Amino acid sequence: MYCRHCGREIEDNAAFCPHCGGALRKEAHAGGGLYGYELTRLKVPGETKNPGVAAAIGFFFGWILLGPVGYVYLGQWNWFWLTFVVQIFAIPLTVGLAYILLPVLFAIHQYQMAKDLNVLVVEKRSKMQGDARRSEAGLSAEE
Ligand SMILES: [Zn+2]
Repeated sequence: MYCRHCGREIEDNAAFCPHCGGALRKEAHAGGGLYGYELTRLKVPGETKNPGVAAAIGFFFGWILLGPVGYVYLGQWNWFWLTFVVQIFAIPLTVGLAYILLPVLFAIHQYQMAKDLNVLVVEKRSKMQGDARRSEAGLSAEE
């Protein structure tokens, strides 16, 4: 196959391109199909996030129905609105059971999402470094 970052030929099952360092199997560790939809797509933040902080926000704020605030910390406003709306319906529909479950679910999901995002942040950085290396190489070749 060919690297989708630099276009050079590489091994079929490579996780990273040996030429530019670009990540090739982003989908494998970014929550599988869960983030494959336009509405739930992850936005790569500028810096890494602390999974512990994300989980703590989800858990403690979850008891005052503000568990989705953890997604704001992670920079995922789409997930904030989505879960905020779902929560409003879930609590009466489950006769309150969701009230007990949601803080735990938010904590687990936001912890995992922070880890997924950090993988994407690192991949983005290594790709940017690869781009920088290539442009340097391009410049020196032109000289
Ligand atoms: Zn490449």
